[in-house]
Amino acid sequence: AGTVRFEDVQFSYDPERPILKGLSFEVPAGKTVAIVGPSGAGKSTISRLLFRLYDVSGGKITIDGQNIRDITQSSLRASIGMVPQDTVLFNDTIRYNIRYGRWDATDAEVEAAAAMAQIDGFIRMSPHGYETEVGERGLKLSGGEKQRVAIARTILKGPPILVLDEATSALDSHTEREIQDQLEKVARGRTSLVIAHRLSTIVGADEIIVLDQGRISERGTHSQLLAAN
Ligand code: ADP
Ligand code: ADP
Repeated sequence: AGTVRFEDVQFSYDPERPILKGLSFEVPAGKTVAIVGPSGAGKSTISRLLFRLYDVSGGKITIDGQNIRDITQSSLRASIGMVPQDTVLFNDTIRYNIRYGRWDATDAEVEAAAAMAQIDGFIRMSPHGYETEVGERGLKLSGGEKQRVAIARTILKGPPILVLDEATSALDSHTEREIQDQLEKVARGRTSLVIAHRLSTIVGADEIIVLDQGRISERGTHSQLLAAN
């Protein structure tokens, strides 16, 4: 379960300026499709539309054939795990932030997810530098650390569909490689839409879609695209 389809999707934040101009693609259940393209092409917009932070202006998005407009917000959020570009964390402990949306998770499960995302040293602390559950001063997390919290949350949640929007962009290259390996394990068997800047981070994708100014300019496997360019 979990086939995602965009059918002739059009979208604009501002009616004067179309962002997506009739976009069609499919992420078959359990497969990984990566979207690459220059900054401003509309890549993040695709992930926001799938999560229904905005509604399409034309065309439709379906999951297993059902228009996402007919899926309740809570069930949509339960089936999609999103690691956004800029993670906003609650002013509570990292543990709370990881457990968010999976309140039945045991401490051991939270800790295992934190370890996979390499954030286990921080879970008793607050992301914003306030008093924490242990009364220590929390530290201010860097962008990369916040992203690891979002990754740990997604690992814990284990949803059928993953949306990774430049999920490791804020990490140093060593940590990025390690987290990428963890994400690949998490993505195995799940439907994954990966939004990326660099082709090198998405070698394993089943299909790569190159987006340019709201339209697909090229598509194919990693080796097909390398051969063509
Ligand atoms: P990408 O992820 O490919 O860099 P985005 O999807 O973030 O591109 O943005 C596509 C275009 O939409 C950009 O020109 C951006 O300035 C514009 N845009 C993004 N978010 C908003 C918004 N909330 N309101 C208005 N315009 C936006
Ligand atoms: P509900 O209204 O169904 O309770 P929530 O807002 O509590 O939904 O969110 C449910 C899940 O969706 C959480 O696990 C959380 O990770 C995820 N989520 C909610 N909002 C966002 C967002 N803006 N970006 C990424 N993930 C989000």
